[in-house]
Amino acid sequence: MENIAIAIDGPAASGKSTVAKTLAKRLGLIMVNTGAMYRAVAWATIQKGVDPADSEAVIKMLGEVEFSCGVSDNLSTILVDGVDPGDALRQDAVNQRVSKVAAIPEVRELLVQRQRDYLELGSVVMEGRDIGSVVFPDTPFKIYIDASEEVRRQRRAAEGIVDELGKRDEEDSKRKTAPLVVAEGAVKIDSSELSIEQVIERVLEILKERGAPVELLGN
Ligand code: C5P
Repeated sequence: MENIAIAIDGPAASGKSTVAKTLAKRLGLIMVNTGAMYRAVAWATIQKGVDPADSEAVIKMLGEVEFSCGVSDNLSTILVDGVDPGDALRQDAVNQRVSKVAAIPEVRELLVQRQRDYLELGSVVMEGRDIGSVVFPDTPFKIYIDASEEVRRQRRAAEGIVDELGKRDEEDSKRKTAPLVVAEGAVKIDSSELSIEQVIERVLEILKERGAPVELLGN
């Protein structure tokens, strides 16, 4: 079986990470969290005292810091100069910086290449903002998961996380390079009123309709 990529995109707190993780586990695929990769670059700017809005300084930092991508337990991992930032990737200071570094084309170029490299290791469920539009535009398996802003805000609050979702979504949607869009050919799922299980059922139906290999779906 040729390795396949299942692209799952959507705004912050749309439920895409949980869906991607559960789906990857069920199908025995590698789950790649691309947001963590952009967050790792944002975290590195804090460690190095680099202004995330100063693209030249961020680009210079990319040449000096080593970002190593790997897999552990079927989940993508990222080390910054050999250090796993862990939960620090979700801190508010990172939330505030991440959309700024993610808007820099050179940052995206580096990370998109690392994301494509994962396909050499096996089939992947990859979640982010531009997976169906930029990273794997040719995959037939593209899902866009959305939810109302109210529901997404409640989900973040329930996790006890401070996150200015609206601001981050706006920055992500308005940037010039690889903005958050519904990729051509993607199926949109509104998860506002659905359970994770219901979203997964729908994704599995879509994979089947679009001819995902039976070895993958198991029937
Ligand atoms: O998915 P998550 O909320 O962790 O993503 C954090 C940020 O990383 C997003 O707000 C966005 O700025 C950036 N991102 C991106 N492209 C991706 C994944 C994430 O620009 N494929």
